[in-house]
Amino acid sequence: MADGSPARVPSDTSPHVAPDGRFRNPWPNAEPPTFRDVLRWRRTRGTEPRPAPLLPGRVPPAIDAPRGARDTLAATWIGHSTVLLQVGTLNVLTDPMWSRRASPLRWAGPARLTEPGLSLDALPPIDIVLISHDHYDHLDAASVRALARRHPAARWFTPLGVARYVRRWGARAVTELDWWHAVDDGGVRIACVPAQHGSGRTPFDRMQSLWCGFTLRAAAHSIYFAGDTAYHPEFGEIARREGPFDLCMLPIGAYEPRWFMRPVHVNPEEAVRAYADIAAVHPGCPPPVALAVHWGAFTLADEPMDEPPRRAQSAWGGSGFDAARLWILSLGETRRLPARGA
Ligand code: ZN
Ligand code: ZN
Repeated sequence: MADGSPARVPSDTSPHVAPDGRFRNPWPNAEPPTFRDVLRWRRTRGTEPRPAPLLPGRVPPAIDAPRGARDTLAATWIGHSTVLLQVGTLNVLTDPMWSRRASPLRWAGPARLTEPGLSLDALPPIDIVLISHDHYDHLDAASVRALARRHPAARWFTPLGVARYVRRWGARAVTELDWWHAVDDGGVRIACVPAQHGSGRTPFDRMQSLWCGFTLRAAAHSIYFAGDTAYHPEFGEIARREGPFDLCMLPIGAYEPRWFMRPVHVNPEEAVRAYADIAAVHPGCPPPVALAVHWGAFTLADEPMDEPPRRAQSAWGGSGFDAARLWILSLGETRRLPARGA
């Protein structure tokens, strides 16, 4: 599998590269909030005490150790967008985040309200790590360092401009991908796909690295991890090119207030709409399972902590989808899917 230098230097004719070389969302009304917007949101956020959040439950994990069987797919929700996927015999982690705060500072910034559902020590051997973008709740230095030390053979995949962080923190085999670029190796295919979001870890590096979703096909299964995203017109195209999927990991949290969050985060109704776009592409296939992520660990927005799963369930039911195909997991919970057609 490719390693070392970036897979590709972004061409300045790519629709998601702005004339000044920064990245952008190539769709109308998709400009992420500016620093001024952040200040405006802070001012209008109000100081009235909020009710204590209703946190997700937790259960003891039941992972396949060290590896799953060839034709099974198991997903264990560790918290937020961190999921252990056991795809056949392959062990995959998405956006690994174990730290106390999603912040550059140890003493300020969004603090964890729930413990990770699986400890770093309890992980099976990790083969692949997918990093969707550079925000602190998805790209965490301490978690990358710990994983790079414990799982030196892991292969890491990032969008353009993010590899330098994970290499600096000790990851060895790192592949950077642009949207619609893919790596095929030994029966595993990983593709980097569009998302509508933004990037930046300081006030000075806004939109200087790319954000993305990933698709992964291995053994008998195919998975779509949407990363952080707003609703955009290309969910169907992602399914057309890389589906059909067995499992779609879709974000459901951090969406209020809408004037601020709408360009960067779907709300639960939009997550279900994105799912409908994906499912419509392959009407002959069983619809994928949707695993709800990006909620339950950090307060990043104004909605109550327990609202995203409630609204997701209600939008799901309202769209007429099978309730058993929406997975709202407890922390640490493992669920399994049989192979397609089994
Ligand atoms: Zn983000
Ligand atoms: Zn996020």
